[in-house]
Amino acid sequence: MRQANTKLTTVMYHYVRPLAVSSYPRLKALELANFEAQLDYLQSAYNIISPFELSASLMAGTPLPEKSCLLTFDDGYTDHYQHVYPVLAARSVTGLFFAPKCSLIERKPLEVNKVQFILASCENPYSLAAELDKYLLELGGHDIKLLRENYFAPNRFDGPEVAYFKRLLQHVLQPNIRRSVIDNLFNSYVTSDISEFTEDLYLTVEQAKEMREAGNEFGGHGSEHLWHAMASEGELNREITGSVDALTEIGAPVSGGFYSYPFGSYDDNVCKLVSDAGFQIGFTVEPTLFSLFSGDRMRISRLDTNDLPIKSGSQTDHWLSATKLLEG
Ligand SMILES: [Zn+2]
Repeated sequence: MRQANTKLTTVMYHYVRPLAVSSYPRLKALELANFEAQLDYLQSAYNIISPFELSASLMAGTPLPEKSCLLTFDDGYTDHYQHVYPVLAARSVTGLFFAPKCSLIERKPLEVNKVQFILASCENPYSLAAELDKYLLELGGHDIKLLRENYFAPNRFDGPEVAYFKRLLQHVLQPNIRRSVIDNLFNSYVTSDISEFTEDLYLTVEQAKEMREAGNEFGGHGSEHLWHAMASEGELNREITGSVDALTEIGAPVSGGFYSYPFGSYDDNVCKLVSDAGFQIGFTVEPTLFSLFSGDRMRISRLDTNDLPIKSGSQTDHWLSATKLLEG
C-alpha cells in the first residue's frame, strides 16, 4: 500500500505548570497557558495520535493519518498528572509519559532535577559555575582549565555558564563528588526537606495507573536517569532493569513497549540492550522529523516544545512545511 504520510512529528515536554504563580517561577518550565495554546495550534495543524496508533503502525505497518503528531512527556512529574492529563482528557487526546524508577517507585529525587532546582533557586545562576570551580579547586585533583576548555560552551537551550554547571554535575565529575556537590548546593539553595520536595515533584504509581486507564501510556526512562552512552556496563544494566521494574509496577508493557533515552544519550550498544530487554520503540532528542518507514524505530527523533509555535497561526512552522513537502 502506498503511504502518503512518511514523516512523524513527535513533541517532547518536561515541566508543564502555572509557572508564574508557582513556588519556583525561574524553573525552566512551559507555562500551562502556553501548553494549551500550543495544543490549540497542534490540533489545528496536525493529527495528534495515541501511542498505540504509533506502535500499531510500526509493528503491523498500518497507516497513520497525514501530519501525525505524538505528544511525549519526560521525567514523571506531578505536573503531568495535575496539569497535563486533565488538559489532554478534555481535548480527547492522549500522550506517552516516561518516568524513571528512582523517583516513581523509590521516591528519591533525581540528581538532574536537584540541579535544575538549584539553578531555579539561586539568585544568580551564572555564578554557580565559578562557585563549582572554587569548590573543585579546594578539593584538589581537578584541572579546572581543562574542564573549562572541554565543557564551557553553550548548547541548544543554555548559555555557557549554565551548560558547564549542568555537564559537570550530570556526567563529568566522579559520582561521589557529583553527589556531594549537588547535595550541598541543594541544601543551601533549595530545601533540606527532601521528602516534601519529592512528593511535590513526582507523580505516584497510583496516578500513573489512573492516567493509563484513561488511555495514556508509560515507557521506560532509566532508573537513576543516567547518561546511558556514558554509563558503565553495570550502571546501564541497572538503568534498563530499573525501567522494566517501574513499568511492571504500573502495569505498562515492556515487551513491545516504549523507551526514552535519558538526556537523549544512546549509542548502538544502548539501543541493542534496550531492545534485548523487550522494548520496541526508542526515542531520542534529535530535533528532526522521523521517517516512519525508513527510520530506525529504536531512534525516533523528537522536537522540543520550544521548536514549535504556541499560538495558532502566530508563527510559521517549518516542520509542518517539511511534512507537506513529502505528500503527493
Ligand atoms: Zn529525562
